[in-house]
Amino acid sequence: MESVVLVRYGEIGLKGKNRPAFENRLVQNLRRALGPEIEASVRREHGRIVVDFGGREAPRQAIDRLRSVFGVVSISPAKAAPLSLDEALAGARLLVEEKLQATKGPVRFKVEAKRSNKQFPLTSPELNGRFGGYLLRAFPRLEVDVHAPDFVLHVEVREKAIYLYTEILPGPGGLPVGSSSEGLLLLSGGIDSPVAGWLAMKRGIRLRAIHFHSFPFTSDRSKEKVIDLAGVLSRYSFEPIPVYVVNFTPAQTAIRQHVPPAMTITVMRRMMLRIASRIAAQHGIPALITGESVGQVASQTLESMAAINEVTSMPILRPLVAMDKGEIVELAQQIGTYDLSVLPYPDCCTLFVPDRPETRPRIERVRAAEADMPIDELVDEAVATVDVVEPVLEPSLSL
Ligand code: ATP
Ligand code: MG
Repeated sequence: MESVVLVRYGEIGLKGKNRPAFENRLVQNLRRALGPEIEASVRREHGRIVVDFGGREAPRQAIDRLRSVFGVVSISPAKAAPLSLDEALAGARLLVEEKLQATKGPVRFKVEAKRSNKQFPLTSPELNGRFGGYLLRAFPRLEVDVHAPDFVLHVEVREKAIYLYTEILPGPGGLPVGSSSEGLLLLSGGIDSPVAGWLAMKRGIRLRAIHFHSFPFTSDRSKEKVIDLAGVLSRYSFEPIPVYVVNFTPAQTAIRQHVPPAMTITVMRRMMLRIASRIAAQHGIPALITGESVGQVASQTLESMAAINEVTSMPILRPLVAMDKGEIVELAQQIGTYDLSVLPYPDCCTLFVPDRPETRPRIERVRAAEADMPIDELVDEAVATVDVVEPVLEPSLSL
């Protein structure tokens, strides 16, 4: 009896001609999720993916990893029996035995058989009857309850095997990372941008990150925190997300020298976007991603966004644009970035926030405010001195 994990996907099935590319990407990502030390074959099978562990039991950690891959709607750890009723019954017996181990007293169940292989001689209702009867005889504690069962034994008769399972574990949905090109995430040490990155990944975007660091105004700890955040996000793509660390001190210093305080945030954001756009273009990355959300702070009014946006023609994705802070915090907690984000190392922006930032900056005034700054030189210098840091991926599965 083989041990397998059945992987179901949804949306990528809708993608018409792109379908094989999407499926191949998902297969590749599932393989990567398992890591090199797990022996398993990953194959496509009629609108699903089967991860086959051979005769070995699928390790719990492997199951957890498979179900966290974007594009996965649900998974079921299953036994795969050959196309023989007797062997399938024996498999079901093993499975139910495991299921009952954790319980005492009567347990209600039902069988749900599905026969897509019409060559197989028994129909679905007949299979329900045979499996139900067999299990009732094998385990006196079992009772049939089709309305409120404690568990359902699924029996799927397919082309080459009969799959048996009792669990359907939800996955994150979305699209497989890498199926929607690449995006450059402006990653601060705050709560929002990591969540924005996660949501972009969920839509299939492969991430690289850029971080603006103002040493010695901000500490090395604040930089490390951002690398660690990239590390947490890397858990969802199972490959390290590189972080382009930009020395932002010369730009910050020039801004402080030349720009009136009410306008510094806007100009700072414009500098960030100029540098980020240049680095993205250098690497053939077509879009930027930020953690902005409308109305959250002074620089996130629509007028501010317009003034900031003016410096680039690259699309800027803002996955959090319509979310409330509470919703963002909740998601940050779920995906595991929150605890890092709230560590108290100041970021370059928190440090330079003026008392009264302009909430409706007029574009002409912003242009005038930065007119004395050597913008091209500052961008060139920042791009030339960028440092690429890769987070260390979690240690691979220890088996
Ligand atoms: P976050 O929680 O992501 O820091 P925020 O609510 O603090 O967001 P801002 O500080 O206005 O908002 O930043 C808006 C966006 O600009 C951030 O979400 C992030 O994408 C980008 N950003 C801000 N500071 C930096 C930085 N030091 N390096 C890279 N990107 C930054
Ligand atoms: Mg911030």
